[in-house]
Amino acid sequence: MDCIREEIKALSAYAVPPADGLVKLDAMENPYVLPDELRVAIAHRLSVLEVNRYPESNPEKLKSLLRQTMGIDPATAIVLGNGSDELIQMLALSVAKPGAVILGVEPAFVMFRMIATFVGLRFVGVPLKTDFSLDGPALLSAIEAHQPALVFLAYPNNPTGNHFDSAVMETVIRATPGLVVIDEAYFPFSKQSFLPRLPAYPNLLVMRTVSKFGLAGVRLGFLSGRANVLEHIDKVRLPYNISMLDQAVALEVLAHSEVLREQALRILQQRAVLAKQLAAIAGVVVYPSDANFLLFRIAKASRIFDGLRHRGILVKDLSAAHPLLTDCLRVTVGTFEENQRFLDALKDTIE
Ligand code: PMP
Repeated sequence: MDCIREEIKALSAYAVPPADGLVKLDAMENPYVLPDELRVAIAHRLSVLEVNRYPESNPEKLKSLLRQTMGIDPATAIVLGNGSDELIQMLALSVAKPGAVILGVEPAFVMFRMIATFVGLRFVGVPLKTDFSLDGPALLSAIEAHQPALVFLAYPNNPTGNHFDSAVMETVIRATPGLVVIDEAYFPFSKQSFLPRLPAYPNLLVMRTVSKFGLAGVRLGFLSGRANVLEHIDKVRLPYNISMLDQAVALEVLAHSEVLREQALRILQQRAVLAKQLAAIAGVVVYPSDANFLLFRIAKASRIFDGLRHRGILVKDLSAAHPLLTDCLRVTVGTFEENQRFLDALKDTIE
């Protein structure tokens, strides 16, 4: 097909492997389901929806509930996206002048690079240091050389799980001529945020999602920042980007966000248990994590990945994703039982 752009032909689609019948520890989902009372309340809300109508285009009630649950000043502007993925796309579309550059670090969330390609922009990925920290001088010289319109930094970073040095991040924000987006997808597990710094930097935006909090099936994320920036990003948003069903579920669950908070606490406890047990296995190196997953290194990682899948456990094989990730796998923290099944399968595979 000649009409398809060459760079799109060269792409491989974002891989979502089949997970039927497997213990799914590959996508940073919250492993706990909602309590029955909440499911019944959701069912009731859904039963009275008038799905013959379009959803609300600018759902103010949902926005204020999000601000309330995420601790955001009621006066701060926010834009809603169909997951943070859509917000990344809206941001990229908004800056897509010919020749503009999007800059990030690598390894990082792959959609930053992919979406740059979707909108016809060049992506510059500055390698992290071998300990997965930011290479400040390399970042600053890349910013100087490429004058990026948009910079993405995830805090904590996926797939490495660590927080970057916030002082270095601030030098990046100051040096960037365009917008800097701090992606706080893993905020429910980290509690560190750039939100308090929004007033200090006119080019700073903070992005969050409900996906890792426990609502990955509801596609909902938001951007917060200066109103004079967000008003333009909002024009790129498709009019009915958050479905009526998603809005209804989010309204019900976020009104009971203590349920998700309690689940996040359990995930944090399980992370500590899992990290300790994983590190005790000979030949495994576990990296510190501020998120709901653990990155670990193990010899012949791809073979281990296959062995785990064969034993019913799906993790993420990152061993070919970036030179810094050679022999690395990423496991999402599951329930105690899921984690034990993963550890048993791992030991079994190693033997
Ligand atoms: N940002 C980061 C850093 C992520 O790891 C992910 C998902 N893996 C996303 C954004 C996308 O999240 P959402 O489900 O809100 O689209």
